Amino acid sequence: MLKWERIAEEFIAVSVGKEYNGEPYYWTTFYYYKGLVIDAGCLHTAEEAAKFIEDMKLDVKAVFLTHHHEDHCGGAPIFRERFGVEVFAPKKSLEILAKPPEIPVYRRVVWGQPKSVKATPLKEIAEVGGLTIKTFDTPGHSFDSISFHVEDCLFIGDLVTNPKPVIMIRDENLTETVNSIRKVVGLDFEKAYGGHGIWDKYALLRFLDNIFALKTSVEALWRKGLSVKQIVERLFSKVPKKVLQMESVSQGECSRENLVKALLEMKIECGKT
Ligand SMILES: [Zn+2]
Repeated sequence: MLKWERIAEEFIAVSVGKEYNGEPYYWTTFYYYKGLVIDAGCLHTAEEAAKFIEDMKLDVKAVFLTHHHEDHCGGAPIFRERFGVEVFAPKKSLEILAKPPEIPVYRRVVWGQPKSVKATPLKEIAEVGGLTIKTFDTPGHSFDSISFHVEDCLFIGDLVTNPKPVIMIRDENLTETVNSIRKVVGLDFEKAYGGHGIWDKYALLRFLDNIFALKTSVEALWRKGLSVKQIVERLFSKVPKKVLQMESVSQGECSRENLVKALLEMKIECGKT
């Protein structure tokens, strides 16, 4: 399933997701920006996305990936072949993109097992079709995440997926996420375009405020002797059903407990944005 939105001339947001009973479980968004395709959606929707690009007669000059996750890189091998363009990716992602490890079943169902793609390592500054693309290491969500600054746009991948997080992937590192946001938030941009949302600068700053507030609450309860499970019950008992389903199907890979643990482990001076 695919839906799209024209953000400006030569700038389109394309959201894709495999349909089950008429709706995708989740959407993931990639972007076409003046010849650049930024991220590539998942394997399940790669053919549909490539056809959309052809039907819209978009002139693809290169594919840029923000990180190795299957909802961002799954379409890349097909785009590479169909449009005869290079795929650029963070240096840290290359090995995993070339030999993708088997992902858990629930992720295979939602997104598809990614296939191997040969990517070219990104430099700090890239030039494509007259555009200058600056890349910034922004780890946290994953070890290899980067952000692209192009003209007045910031493409952030999954650096932020929800300004008010209630759930977190096991491998995410909140200390790095906070430092990464601090690194890019001062850049000159109007909007930050992510795989699961579009935010302005103030939303990114609010994300930091939310994280600091949550950390303060979690630490206060931890000091009182509550366990991680009890803290989850106290702070995150009223969450959407989808959150509980995700915890269950992911067998804890995505969970509220991960978020509480990450907040306890986070080493950051609160309030310093
Ligand atoms: Zn991701």
